[in-house]
Amino acid sequence: MKYNWSIIGHEKQLEQIESDIESGNLAHTYLLSGSNSVGKYTVAKKIAGILQCKDNFCHKCNTCYQVQKGSHIDTIELRGNKESIKIMDIRKLIERLNMTRQSEYKVLLIQSIERMTKEAANSFLKLLEEPPERTVIILTTNRVGDILPTIISRVRTIKFGIVSYGYLNKKLHELYPDRDEKVINEICLFSLGKTGKAVHLMENPDSLANYMKVYRDVQSFLDHRNVADRFSYVENLIAEEKQIEVFFDILTHVLRTKMLSESSPEKRKKEINSLLKIGEAGMLLKKNVNQRLVLENLMLSL
Ligand SMILES: [Zn+2]
Repeated sequence: MKYNWSIIGHEKQLEQIESDIESGNLAHTYLLSGSNSVGKYTVAKKIAGILQCKDNFCHKCNTCYQVQKGSHIDTIELRGNKESIKIMDIRKLIERLNMTRQSEYKVLLIQSIERMTKEAANSFLKLLEEPPERTVIILTTNRVGDILPTIISRVRTIKFGIVSYGYLNKKLHELYPDRDEKVINEICLFSLGKTGKAVHLMENPDSLANYMKVYRDVQSFLDHRNVADRFSYVENLIAEEKQIEVFFDILTHVLRTKMLSESSPEKRKKEINSLLKIGEAGMLLKKNVNQRLVLENLMLSL
């Protein structure tokens, strides 16, 4: 590849983007779609770096540094995945896009665009209908089904997927030759093929320690904890919301491993059912159904 992306996997997607840039066939808006933590926003930032850096995305110049840090004047970001995006937010973005440009491009990055309210989405649609000159908009979502079809029809969608355990393991060994083999293996298991998550765990020992703790908790309560203990675990999860995602990742990993090692078809079926229930619970949580209800139901069904 021409640019130094420093990204694991997604070669086809990155090649497509490079070819769009090289051939002058850049879309005015890209939508990077795929499940959470596969590295979509990281890719979005890198595209911004490639477009803004005057030296082939050198990773050394001031521009590269500012884009990475989020302080580049013509690279506008709306990050986050929780709070909804309101019409006022879109108006402010449009105002900034209309200011005089000091770089080659104005680049607008919006994370998790499913957060847009209906009014915001309609206002955003107008921007897409008449995009300003030399402006590239890069959007990400893990819920493409929730995006207005009229928006989808005006963007170039690039899908991002997960990678295999073997591939991830090989890449992490290449990228981090000094790291302990056991740690790399664990990270490959916990990240469930999501490369963004794997890199995050490699580089954040606190997050990894947290995953290890949840892993032990999950194993212990699947073995013998009673309902009261499980419900009090739910209580703790709700108190610290970001733990819910970790819990779901680990639970999926543990049950999938159990399922794969199960020789009795009956027991295997039970694990598959549990995995389906985790999937359903995850969907309900995304739809803002009462967290306690969803998690307690899940606990009862495992
Ligand atoms: Zn540079």
